Amino acid sequence: MLTKILRIDEVHKNETAIREAGEIIKAGGLVAFPTETVYGLGGDALNPASSRKIYEAKGRPSDNPLIVHITDMEALPAIVKSVPETGKKLADAFWPGPLTMIMEKSALVPKETTGGLDTVAVRMPSDAVALAFIRAAGGYVAAPSANRSGRPSPTRAAYVAQDMDGRIEMILDGGDATLGLESTIVDLTVEPPVILRPGFITGEMLRQKLGRVEEDRTLFSDDSGQAPKAPGMKYRHYAPKGELVIVKGAAEAVTDYINVQLAGERRNHKKTGVIATDETIAGYRADVPRSVGKRVDAAAAAKGLYRILREFDDEGVELIYSESFDGEGVSQAVMNRLLKAAGHKVINV
Ligand code: AMP
Ligand code: MG
Repeated sequence: MLTKILRIDEVHKNETAIREAGEIIKAGGLVAFPTETVYGLGGDALNPASSRKIYEAKGRPSDNPLIVHITDMEALPAIVKSVPETGKKLADAFWPGPLTMIMEKSALVPKETTGGLDTVAVRMPSDAVALAFIRAAGGYVAAPSANRSGRPSPTRAAYVAQDMDGRIEMILDGGDATLGLESTIVDLTVEPPVILRPGFITGEMLRQKLGRVEEDRTLFSDDSGQAPKAPGMKYRHYAPKGELVIVKGAAEAVTDYINVQLAGERRNHKKTGVIATDETIAGYRADVPRSVGKRVDAAAAAKGLYRILREFDDEGVELIYSESFDGEGVSQAVMNRLLKAAGHKVINV
């Protein structure tokens, strides 16, 4: 299959391209498209054959459900049993935006789209190209991140092409994703609601609207003895090809420890990488050192993380050490992705 890549600068100047992308979805094909979080791999959410194609293109296990993307509140009642009060409040506050809500699904949504579950994950993105595309596609676009399963989520069209060239009909190139990290996922089918994936809409922000909101205990540790609530949480995610280890402790101790390890790896002729911050990056002697930005700027870390992980792959890095990120809010989202990418390998120094 030839994958067509179309650059979209402004929606109103590229109406033909967006219409063409919408027609592909209506005909049962797949189109990758930009959103404010990461690029999505879109198919018709109400067509079981389209969802099966998404799993195939991604190489994703079919019990890992997809997120259904909509463009307006009028579209919601048709795909859920009923819209809970909590859902109305959160939609008012945070949609369009980087928040995914899980509700009981209606019969209109095929089980292929929800990984066999009776619940459906729904999001209304804010990106202008995403909204125009979903509208052109009929209003319900199922889309996981547009990476091959297990790889870091793509934050630009070139990264989508690395993973999906020849596997899908079209990629809409809308430039770099503004946020760079996947949406917050909150499960509204339980009381109190539970955060299944942290993101830019933080626990604190959700609590301000709903009162009590819990965090799934498996988000930051893999030894809680609990089965993960979202099927996707059990799979290794976001991983670079090299081994990734997170080092936790006081700043100086972390730098010293990592440098000793790097020296050892150099003797073994292994290519090394480091993930650090502007404050510390100059102190590391790695083959490929990368800063995520200033330590206080969690949004910058969120935006740059997946690009950096892919750069390690492009450079053939075999072993990566990362500083850890301990703050609240968006920092937690960054740390959650790092832990998954590292397969929870953490060294305390
Ligand atoms: P991705 O689109 O690649 O960011 O992955 C979508 C994420 O949403 C996966 O981790 C899924 O497990 C999660 N998800 C989607 N639908 C549901 C659902 N009905 N219940 C729980 N988690 C879901
Ligand atoms: Mg994903």
